[in-house]
Amino acid sequence: MILKLIHKAGSMCVQFIFPRMCLECGKPGKYFCLACLNRIQVPPPFELENVDKVIAVSSYHKPSIKKAVRQLKYHHSQDLKKELVELMYGAINQHLDTLPPQTKILAIPITEKRRRWRGFNQSELLAWELSKKLNLPFSHGLLKIRETRPQTEIKNRKERLENIKGAFAIMPGYTPPNTIMIVDDISTTGATLNEAARVLKNAGAQKIIGVVIAKG
Ligand SMILES: [Zn+2]
Repeated sequence: MILKLIHKAGSMCVQFIFPRMCLECGKPGKYFCLACLNRIQVPPPFELENVDKVIAVSSYHKPSIKKAVRQLKYHHSQDLKKELVELMYGAINQHLDTLPPQTKILAIPITEKRRRWRGFNQSELLAWELSKKLNLPFSHGLLKIRETRPQTEIKNRKERLENIKGAFAIMPGYTPPNTIMIVDDISTTGATLNEAARVLKNAGAQKIIGVVIAKG
């Protein structure tokens, strides 16, 4: 109860510090006003070695998307999360025909140490919300077992691959379903999604769909 109240108070502070206005044009009301929402171009899906399809809402180079991703990462905002999940849902509908009902939604995890420091994992918040929207179960199954440098800070592709290699593991006792939709906030070279998918496929998953807000 107390935690809930603190959370609510925190949320109100966020509203006070960041009054809701369109991140693109500044119009008050929503983080993406209707006019700007209609101008968001969903990029074509792409494949990675271990990910069958990656669907992104937009490009990280679009200033409003970049702002939204950063804002969600450092200031947990329910309203922003809901608007971003609506965008994810729209992109999924545009680029995915059907999903088997046994599909589970997973999030790219962060280490326990980071979670304690930040208080939440923004990818998990998105994945939870998306699972409600798609009416598919959210599942914890993947762990991040060591700290990595932020991929966005590393320019060299080879270094990015090395940075993330071996960073994930399957939770003890977890059996991945055949089809998994894995959620992250941003995918730059796809190295993180690809490594997570490699671990999940090694443990038996057959098909992996990646869904992100921003493609780097
Ligand atoms: Zn706008």
